[in-house]
Amino acid sequence: MSNLYFLQEMIYKTDYHMHSTFSDGRSVPEDYIAPAIAAGLKEIGFSEHLTLFKELEDWNMNPENISLYISHLESVRNNTNHIKIRTGLEVDFIQGKENEIRDFLSPLPLDYIIGSVHYLGERTVDFGPEFYEGKNINKLFESYFDLVCDAVASGLFDIIGHCDLIRIYGYKPSMDLEPHYRNLAKTMKKHDVAFEVNTNGRNRPLADFYPDRRFLNIFHAENVPVCVNSDAHMPARIGQYFDEAYELLRYIGFTEMAVFEKRIRKMVPF
Ligand SMILES: [Zn+2]
Ligand SMILES: [Zn+2]
Repeated sequence: MSNLYFLQEMIYKTDYHMHSTFSDGRSVPEDYIAPAIAAGLKEIGFSEHLTLFKELEDWNMNPENISLYISHLESVRNNTNHIKIRTGLEVDFIQGKENEIRDFLSPLPLDYIIGSVHYLGERTVDFGPEFYEGKNINKLFESYFDLVCDAVASGLFDIIGHCDLIRIYGYKPSMDLEPHYRNLAKTMKKHDVAFEVNTNGRNRPLADFYPDRRFLNIFHAENVPVCVNSDAHMPARIGQYFDEAYELLRYIGFTEMAVFEKRIRKMVPF
């Protein structure tokens, strides 16, 4: 057994970003359990897409199903051994609707809430590359980072999902991005919000993780809590590329990761 193998086996791995048929995942939550245990995970959490105050799109959970979703996961949890099941959501940040979103979310018995920016205006930045055509890429990146910072500062969220999703189609701004990542990391630290290394970027046109690995050292320097998430939309992708992600984080200098229960964060060493 190599040393590295031993270290990877020892890590208390979690995967808090997964989608089932309650939103746009391919399988029911039950189908994710066995592959998660096989992947060596100690906790998994479902984080269905919820976009309040926008027209319901097919990738989103209908808000009317929220109680059903929560009680379904409760029964899955009660019938599962060997792995902890957490209840989360991936909620879109909608500027100007912060109070309404808080009122909707705060009574819910959730373990964590991932806040994500998919919408820039009326369109989502990950729907197709045509969104970027003919646009000023520097301005798009600036707007995206501004909105993510507003999401962080809203206090609505425990984790920020794919914090630089705007990279998805590989468009590269000409400006220096370092100050944007620095400002984002400082804002996360100030508001006590974690970021995720989202390994699903590897399956998208970008073909790499979010956030940009060149700037991970900034999140480390600013002492922002981290977790590693797959954003799996099918059981086969649970925990995908996690060994590489943890190795990368360890190389940068991270030594602990965030775990969540009932919206309380704890740090565990890895
Ligand atoms: Zn997302
Ligand atoms: Zn997601």
